[in-house]
Amino acid sequence: MSTTEQSADATTTDGSWDVVVVGAGTGGCYASATIANAGYDVVVLERKTEEEAGHIACGDALKGADGFPDAIPKSKIEPAFTNTDVDHGRFEIPQEDTVLDIPVPGELAVIDRDEYGKRLIEGTTEAGTEIHYDTVVTDVIQAEDGRVTGVEAIRKGEPLTYEAAVVVDGAGSLSVLQDMIDFSESTFDTNVDFSHFSSAYREVVTVEEPVEWDDALVFKPTERSAGYLWYFPRTETEINVGLGFQMTEEPMKLVEGLKRDLENRPEFEGATVKDKLGAALPTRRPYDSATHPGYVAVGDAAAHVNPTTGGGIAGAAYAGEYAGEQIIEGLERGEIDEDVLWPYNERVMDHYGGRYAALDVYNILTIGADIDDLTGLLATIPGDKLSEALYSGSTSMGLKFKLEALIKSRGHWDTIWNMYKTKQRADEILAHYEDYPSSPEGLGDWQRERDELMEKVYETTGAEPKY
Ligand SMILES: Cc1cc2nc3c(=O)[nH]c(=O)nc-3n(C[C@H](O)[C@H](O)[C@H](O)COP(=O)(O)OP(=O)(O)OC[C@H]3O[C@@H](n4cnc5c(N)ncnc54)[C@H](O)[C@@H]3O)c2cc1C
Repeated sequence: MSTTEQSADATTTDGSWDVVVVGAGTGGCYASATIANAGYDVVVLERKTEEEAGHIACGDALKGADGFPDAIPKSKIEPAFTNTDVDHGRFEIPQEDTVLDIPVPGELAVIDRDEYGKRLIEGTTEAGTEIHYDTVVTDVIQAEDGRVTGVEAIRKGEPLTYEAAVVVDGAGSLSVLQDMIDFSESTFDTNVDFSHFSSAYREVVTVEEPVEWDDALVFKPTERSAGYLWYFPRTETEINVGLGFQMTEEPMKLVEGLKRDLENRPEFEGATVKDKLGAALPTRRPYDSATHPGYVAVGDAAAHVNPTTGGGIAGAAYAGEYAGEQIIEGLERGEIDEDVLWPYNERVMDHYGGRYAALDVYNILTIGADIDDLTGLLATIPGDKLSEALYSGSTSMGLKFKLEALIKSRGHWDTIWNMYKTKQRADEILAHYEDYPSSPEGLGDWQRERDELMEKVYETTGAEPKY
């Protein structure tokens, strides 16, 4: 932490802005476009060069693009959707010699991530945002009362100060900004540990012949630990292949693990690698609160990621929009305190945060349970029925299916019972998030009740406490 006065002596002041956004990723671009569309002065600070900006480690699968926020018109990003024929997940379970095809409802696309990233930046620029590339944010400026009032940065060796009414943290997973802020006077969630993250690596590979599964997102459990491999077809001959594992597990050699699997797949014979990149991603519940006076975190910086799939593009886009709208309200009122920002937390929890927190319960189950038992059980369930169960809730499953599944899954009944109890715990968590408080004052009581429910989750799953 530093004060405005201290930093201004030592550095060049790069102006005073309504809003400074750190990071030109999905969250930063949607937040800045929303605010710039309303006529405010917004600058995005991006550590990468103009050429590299938008180049992000990703599996390139996009779910729910049909309903994306319109701060950046969909027509702007659509040309980056290189495969819109994907309509199901394909789960390969080699231990059981089974392949499960599971239909996925809603719009699904595999994208050229680099092109998408560039188009987002173009979209926010067209909305009126200024982008400063090669600009690494190195410190956060906090006033005596704790309010964030700007950031310190370095561009090509030159120290800079940016002052603003509000700073948006869109700096991604493990955002360094949060290490620099004293959150003791706000509700901002500081219960964050490295074990809440996954490490992931991906390559974009070109194959000689079209793959047969160009309409599917292919998943496969890794040989060991609770990780998975993916094969996502950007086109029928350009595949995003990658793997990831939860950091609670013993570290995996990601590059070697991927290489081994590729060598065993005939369709990748003679394939060439176009691009390689790795990164960490949050696979935990969303932050209980991502607000602080003068500061708000969006996207990966607030863990707005589906913790079971690692999908975070959609969450970051919506978070950007919701945060942007509250910031506009604050700028109009002339006060960016937690009260005005709070509906941002509420909207995130209402839209997807509660669901992600409930899904996190299944992540916790994989820490406590035997993975072979779980995959063995999965292999006994027909794909269309599994899809029904996943997307409509188990209560909608027909009695006939329940009986069939029960007979087929003999030998897995202990695991089924465990899953059934876990689902009850997940439903309790989901219901509790529906009562997310309507003001910062209610957060403490709500957290205490949620933590009591989490105790039951650890008891049921046998996992070590995650939070
Ligand atoms: C290997 C991998 C595979 C994934 N696969 C998928 C997938 O298939 N589908 C999906 O939906 N999601 C996927 N995700 C998650 C998804 O990529 C993220 O959730 C999403 O990109 C989050 O967007 P964001 O804007 O929050 O952060 P980011 O996209 O990470 O953007 C953060 C930006 O901030 C900049 N920055 C960071 N620190 C500073 C600083 N100090 N100063 C200035 N700039 C800074 C970075 O350079 C970057 O441009 C995957 C993630 C990984 C790692």
